[in-house]
Amino acid sequence: MIATTATTQLADDVMTTVACNLCGSSRERLITVQSAYRVVRCAGCGFVYVNPRPDEATLERLYLKYLPDKMIDPLSWDSYMNEVFSKAASYLSARLPDNATLLDVGCGYGFFLSCMKAKATSRVKVSGIDVSKTAVSYAAGRGLDVQLGTLDTIKFADNSFDAITMFYVLEHIPDPTRALKEARRILKPGGALFLRLPHTTPIVRILSLCGIKNNLYDPPFHLNDFSAETIGRMLTKAGFENVHTFIGGTTSPPGAMTRVMTKTFGLVAETLYLMSFKRFTLPGVAKNTIAYKGK
Ligand SMILES: [Zn+2]
Repeated sequence: MIATTATTQLADDVMTTVACNLCGSSRERLITVQSAYRVVRCAGCGFVYVNPRPDEATLERLYLKYLPDKMIDPLSWDSYMNEVFSKAASYLSARLPDNATLLDVGCGYGFFLSCMKAKATSRVKVSGIDVSKTAVSYAAGRGLDVQLGTLDTIKFADNSFDAITMFYVLEHIPDPTRALKEARRILKPGGALFLRLPHTTPIVRILSLCGIKNNLYDPPFHLNDFSAETIGRMLTKAGFENVHTFIGGTTSPPGAMTRVMTKTFGLVAETLYLMSFKRFTLPGVAKNTIAYKGK
């Protein structure tokens, strides 16, 4: 999924109130209001989400602005994500069997697919899906096996893939538990789900303490904010096993100051992770989570 910022028209939105997607509770505490959307924390389990939020039809309309035909420059997206994609491809390539199949959900321009092809050569057959026509035609033009759609609209057969990847996708999905269950259904027994997720809440807390206004939750496009704990519990609820969260590199934002800060926090996070014998993942930095469908 490719992120750009867009102004929303709240007055036109049809809003819907939801219960916590992780535990079903309707008890919530307000964290903040950004772009006129309430970001809340579930009082039952701590999951952070936007509530109320635009209904699915309104979201589709808003995404026409979020994913315009002329999206961000593909090459700048490639350099933004390059380190994360490269590390993920090495990680997966070392774990997948010969002749494995991989589906990248929200593949965008296909840069991860290219990276995976380069690392795994012909050992892994890679394909992707995305909701953006522009991105899909760009990726197809580079010879990649991609199609337009979502897990909901393209009903893949049971047990289709050895691995599914989702880079910065699950925070956009209104019903992430259902998406995880669908991913599990189409994974082969023993198959791996690889997620990359932002974790915004700790940063918003720090900025709020400093009195700095921000729109980091990016509502209503980001509807969920996952900690290592909440994504772990959601994956377990969806039937996954052997869940493990790790840092897996950092993005390279375009501004020099932002890039230095991102790289510094990423380095600190990676060091703490290794020093804790791969147990501690620093809150507030984006991370990878891997989970498996049982055999
Ligand atoms: Zn909850």
